[in-house]
Amino acid sequence: KFISLEGGEGSGKTTAIHCIRQWLDARNIPYIMTREPGGTPLAEEIRQLILSPRDETVNNTTELLLVFAARAQHLAEKIQPALEKGSWVISDRFLDSSYVYQGKARGGDTEILNQLADWVVGDSKPDATLVLDVPVELGQERVVQRQHQDRLDKESLAFHQKVRDGFLERAQAEPGRVKVIDASLSLDLVQQQIEHQLSQLYST
Ligand code: C5P
Ligand code: MG
Repeated sequence: KFISLEGGEGSGKTTAIHCIRQWLDARNIPYIMTREPGGTPLAEEIRQLILSPRDETVNNTTELLLVFAARAQHLAEKIQPALEKGSWVISDRFLDSSYVYQGKARGGDTEILNQLADWVVGDSKPDATLVLDVPVELGQERVVQRQHQDRLDKESLAFHQKVRDGFLERAQAEPGRVKVIDASLSLDLVQQQIEHQLSQLYST
């Protein structure tokens, strides 16, 4: 099974991954953990190209193509081989982040994203995608606590709102695959929702 984890800043992806690990370990299910952009040496280099600060802004189209280039490598070299061996694959972000960051937030055209998704990912979409959803204000509060920052991140609240809306739209577009987890609740309740989705997937 292939599971991707999605969510904006401060949505608790890292905590969710910890919870998924425990659930898989308890059942002796073989799995690999990976992330996007990245996951292989070449794809991690592409991640650096996109995310490292430099004296040149990354053009939106350039970013879109780089993310999909990294994804092609990640799928071919890591995700597909692991799935073929019978391992579960858990990816911290995947295709839906492109619809949200390169699409909704940075203006990428949905039709182009659909075409790239068909071409690069094809039928290797995740079996389930868990979107950790929190109101933007709560997400930002968590980030501030985590980083002991006294001010918000460089991206504006409007940007984070688009990110949240974008993920909710992904769940509407593909409700069978993309499941929304209410990550504003207590740790226990978030964990229950995640385990519920994992059990569903395990039994199908
Ligand atoms: O997963 P994490 O929060 O560490 O991701 C780092 C950042 O990479 C995100 O906050 C987002 O700004 C960016 N990103 C992106 N496009 C993607 C995936 C991630 O812009 N497809
Ligand atoms: Mg994180």
